[in-house]
Amino acid sequence: MNPKETFLTGLPRIGLGWDLHRLAKGRECILGGIEIPCPVGPIGHSDADVLLHALCDALLGAAGMDDLGTLFPDTESQWQGVPSTRFLEETLRLLKQQGLRPLSVDAVLRCDRPKLQPHRRAIREHLSQLLSLPVSRINLKGKTLEGSQTGPETLEAQVIVLLEERRE
Ligand code: MG
Repeated sequence: MNPKETFLTGLPRIGLGWDLHRLAKGRECILGGIEIPCPVGPIGHSDADVLLHALCDALLGAAGMDDLGTLFPDTESQWQGVPSTRFLEETLRLLKQQGLRPLSVDAVLRCDRPKLQPHRRAIREHLSQLLSLPVSRINLKGKTLEGSQTGPETLEAQVIVLLEERRE
């Protein structure tokens, strides 16, 4: 560690992630690792799970480890078509190597379709398992564009996380 960084040792770190995907008919709709019944779903490599992509970017950001696209490029065959839960597992493994672990997560999911409310609890519980955190430390808010969207239909996620640093 750079000697100039020693005064920061043990202090929490904050990270922000954002992601957006276009929606298309017939694509499966996976949000936070949960399959949601919906006639449209996000387009992209892997399962295009915007919530997990934004979460990984927030975690990597807090850790000072670039971003999802840099660490797991979709041009590398090992990352093509994998579920986004694999990205999260790998991200958490990299954080653990640095003595970092998440303390809390807050997320905003902007999705006009599907309706988030019936699935919020299930997504929070699933994230709780994936992150080994109590559900109370993971929050998820749903927002819509109130019918103002003019371009292609999309959904997007913003996630903010707090990490703690543990040096044994
Ligand atoms: Mg993405």
